[in-house]
Amino acid sequence: MPQTAFITGISGQDGCYLAVLLLSKGYRVIGLTRSYQSSNLGNLNYLNILEKVTLEECDLLDMSSIIKLIQLYNPDEIYNLTAQSSVFLSFKQAIGTFQFNTISVLNLLEAIKITNRKIRMYQASSSEMFGDVKSLPITEDTEFYPKSPYAISKAAAHWCCVNYRESYDIFVSCGILFNHESYLRSNNFFIKKLITNCIKIKNKEIEYLEVGNLDIKRDFGYSPKYVEAMYLMLQNDIPQNLLICSGKSISLREITEHICSLLDISINCIRINKDYFRPSEILEIYGSPEKAQKVLGWDYKMDFKEVLTLLLKEELENQHPKTTFIIP
Ligand code: NDP
Repeated sequence: MPQTAFITGISGQDGCYLAVLLLSKGYRVIGLTRSYQSSNLGNLNYLNILEKVTLEECDLLDMSSIIKLIQLYNPDEIYNLTAQSSVFLSFKQAIGTFQFNTISVLNLLEAIKITNRKIRMYQASSSEMFGDVKSLPITEDTEFYPKSPYAISKAAAHWCCVNYRESYDIFVSCGILFNHESYLRSNNFFIKKLITNCIKIKNKEIEYLEVGNLDIKRDFGYSPKYVEAMYLMLQNDIPQNLLICSGKSISLREITEHICSLLDISINCIRINKDYFRPSEILEIYGSPEKAQKVLGWDYKMDFKEVLTLLLKEELENQHPKTTFIIP
């Protein structure tokens, strides 16, 4: 019998790459999506796996729908990747973000508790939970001080997972992931927005791009590599919390300069607009991947500028196949 995995949020960036990975390992992949109609299934199409996964509509705010699907497919593993995942949007939709990002996780945990406690669950926790930290690098022992509705919702969901692990002996592992990107990132995130708009500037379709605070520094990685860590976390003997990160920070300014230089456009085309600044901002974070490396044997070595070059090339190949300029 092949292993069966549920992936919630399968239409998102990580969901698609994780589905590719699990299919390559012979899994039967059941993707839970909020709606066939409104979900963006283009990402699954892009990776040529839309026909290879089974999609099921499921409202994660309704526990009975989850229980029905567990009874129907009897999954071995559940990867919970669904979330309102934009920090920026969470300031505008605080209640919706908090409600969905926490209750959906509690419903999954309760459904596992009621139906089959042998199911292993992965929870997509976030580095944003750490917020303002007193020292760097962040480790698994660093305290949380979340600074956005998104971060608060992720911290609450994280603690629900820890509580179910300790109280009911449910195998739930939380990967605390730092920013990671790919071609499939949605347009409202900085890196994707920067790359697509810089190409438009190069092609003279627009004159400039307005951005927020370029002085902030983050620990960035590459999504197709980060999903490997999610898989490894559920193959490990011990359920636990692990940081998944590159171990280095890079400023949004350096990233912008790199993209502008690859495309040979002036950095002056990127303008700061204070309206895009967040009500509260974390200036710099980066984590230590040491424990994940040791426990999982997960070895991430990509430099983020190398990732940026890769993303720019993929964007050009897909969106602008007629573009004549060549990225070195
Ligand atoms: P995406 O935003 O690309 O995907 C999120 C998924 O959740 C989509 O499938 C989307 O479905 C679904 N979704 C969003 N809002 C709702 C909602 N209100 N109700 C139901 N479904 C919803 O995220 P990523 O793939 O980048 O991230 C995966 C997980 O990892 C998320 O939980 C995110 O918070 C977390 N994370 C991500 C990081 C990153 O840098 N990418 C860093 C740390 C944590 P639909 O197609 O229907 O919109």
